[in-house]
Amino acid sequence: MTESDAYEKTFRWELDFSLNLGETDREFFEGLKEKRILGKRCPDCDRVFVPPQPYCDDCFARTDEWVEVEQEAIVESYTVTFRQFRNMPEPPYVNGAIRIGDSATSLLHFIGGIDYDEPEDLIDAVSSGTAVEPVWRDDREGDILDIEFFRPVE
Ligand SMILES: [Zn+2]
Repeated sequence: MTESDAYEKTFRWELDFSLNLGETDREFFEGLKEKRILGKRCPDCDRVFVPPQPYCDDCFARTDEWVEVEQEAIVESYTVTFRQFRNMPEPPYVNGAIRIGDSATSLLHFIGGIDYDEPEDLIDAVSSGTAVEPVWRDDREGDILDIEFFRPVE
């Protein structure tokens, strides 16, 4: 036994659970069903948040105005995943922090519509600042994956 083994414990959790999404997330997901991307605006600093948040993290003001944002988006940052994680797609895949419309915040989502044939080329397939747009599923059910992925704008 090595010294590091002595401190290693193995645990296994397999949980089925549900969460009450709350009003803000529920409204956002309902919008996705209709191919609308909704954010909330802070009444004090005027910033828009996508995904919506019930309070402004800067002013601590309640964000009670809903706004539909333009679906033009940019990749703020991204990562390429080469290892399998539970409940995630078969790798490789690219995740990005996507800033949609005039949002002050970013949404984490998949980036598709790029060449996945040469996995080592994925690192250069997008960059910070790449313009992207959502690709909508035909059968939407009020879930973040109603947007299948974001793809670079031609
Ligand atoms: Zn604010």
